[in-house]
Amino acid sequence: MLQKHISLKTLVLFVAFAVSQSMSAHAINADEKQTTASRPNILLVFTDDHAYQSISAYGSRINTTPNIDRLAHEGMRFDRCYVSNSICGPCRATVLTGKYSHLNGFCVNGSTPFDGSQQTFPKLLQKVGYQTAVIGKWHLHSAPTGFDHWDILINQGPYYNPPMIRNGERVQRTGYTTKIITDLTLKWLSEQRDQDKPFMLMYQHKAPHRPWEPAPQYFHLYDDIDIPEPPTLFEDYAARGPAVRQQDMTIAETMSDRDLKLVPPANLTSTQQAKWDAAYGPKNRAFHEANLAGDDLTRWRYQRYIKDYLRCVSAVDDQLGRVLDYLDESGLTDNTLVVYCSDQGFYLGEHGWFDKRWMYEESLRTPCLVRWPGVVDPGTYNEDIVSPLDFASTFLEAAGGELPGDLQGKSLVPILNGNTPKDWRKTFYYHYYEYPGWHYVRRHYGVTDGRFKLMYFYEPDVDHWELYDLHNDRDELQNVVDNPAYTKILQRLRQELTRLREDLRVPNEDPASTVIKRLPPRIRTPLP
Ligand code: CA
Repeated sequence: MLQKHISLKTLVLFVAFAVSQSMSAHAINADEKQTTASRPNILLVFTDDHAYQSISAYGSRINTTPNIDRLAHEGMRFDRCYVSNSICGPCRATVLTGKYSHLNGFCVNGSTPFDGSQQTFPKLLQKVGYQTAVIGKWHLHSAPTGFDHWDILINQGPYYNPPMIRNGERVQRTGYTTKIITDLTLKWLSEQRDQDKPFMLMYQHKAPHRPWEPAPQYFHLYDDIDIPEPPTLFEDYAARGPAVRQQDMTIAETMSDRDLKLVPPANLTSTQQAKWDAAYGPKNRAFHEANLAGDDLTRWRYQRYIKDYLRCVSAVDDQLGRVLDYLDESGLTDNTLVVYCSDQGFYLGEHGWFDKRWMYEESLRTPCLVRWPGVVDPGTYNEDIVSPLDFASTFLEAAGGELPGDLQGKSLVPILNGNTPKDWRKTFYYHYYEYPGWHYVRRHYGVTDGRFKLMYFYEPDVDHWELYDLHNDRDELQNVVDNPAYTKILQRLRQELTRLREDLRVPNEDPASTVIKRLPPRIRTPLP
């Protein structure tokens, strides 16, 4: 009995001890999670024109991106990340301000500079003790504000030998831009930042923006294979509206000799030029000798385009790997929120196109991957409608800052925790303004709920509506706006569009109407 009694007492004590240890361990974990979540470093990896169709974590059929995929495997993949205005500068202005173009004033590329005196999330992060930096592409035509350190490309910036501006001072650099931006990023992380403060770093690539000029080590990647063509490479636009027939962004007609590498970049060093010529010279001679025409020529152009595009993506992926490795080696990974995103999606031959701008899916959607150890469950995905518009609110909440009431984006932190708020947006407003301008895409706005998409091309000479049902028509080839089967859906989306425009304070008069006149007239081939 005594033995049994002792055993029972021992057992009770053991269970009590185990429970207390378990609770203690749980409490420590909870504290760690809270600490991790309260003051994380923030790394925004922002690329330019990177299509989700060319990321293996998004199911790419044409390439692999092992380092970007790491963020998906270790974090959350967003499958409905929509941009509010599918073009470079305006998306960047929206990221900084958490506001739509009509409120932050940057509606189109290449007109008035971004007003850096307005509220931006880097400034608000500085107020709560963050050190802030932006390295790489900026493209807002005014000097960055709200950054302790900046080292940016001038305008678009070239793929080779970029002149840059470092904290106001022009610096000429030699080499491949994707690697240079990464070298500068690693230098700032390892040597230049204040190690006693949390940081917010925007690591922003020019790649894979036009004209898709690869680094030498990728010149022969894909040489021996044909990349699969998208099924809509030869779409005739018959069942859509007049706007798609006016565009100037086809692989068949719009691409220039420089896009296609039939002429080399103008700014190479003699060493770079020799490597370039050795790679492209024989390929170009074979092309000229083949004397292709018609669809065969378009197919050749697609192969040349997509291979160079993917070569630029490989450089981005490899360089991102260096940064992720550095975070691991320096012990920063566990306390760093990493976001991978592009300023919009891109056409990789779908509808016969390259470029972006439209509200159609390939340019409306952008890749978005978030890794945040201790907060985001690894290997998860999400189908809520989110946007780069939400980054400002997200970063501020992650940093423990207050969210100003005028932000139009919403914090993704609850979603990252796995708890989508019940009142999360079910629809999304889109607005593109840049016409006349590059690629001749007409101005339009619209709404989508993830399945249906209503678009309005509102300029008087093209005035028309388009409605697509993505479940039945994934490639958006059939405009069903006049189909009686969709009458109720059309009515619902029109009401929602009106509600969103009021809610988001979109002015009735087009806010870009005065600046747009300074944009260039239609020219077929020059680069933007
Ligand atoms: Ca872009």
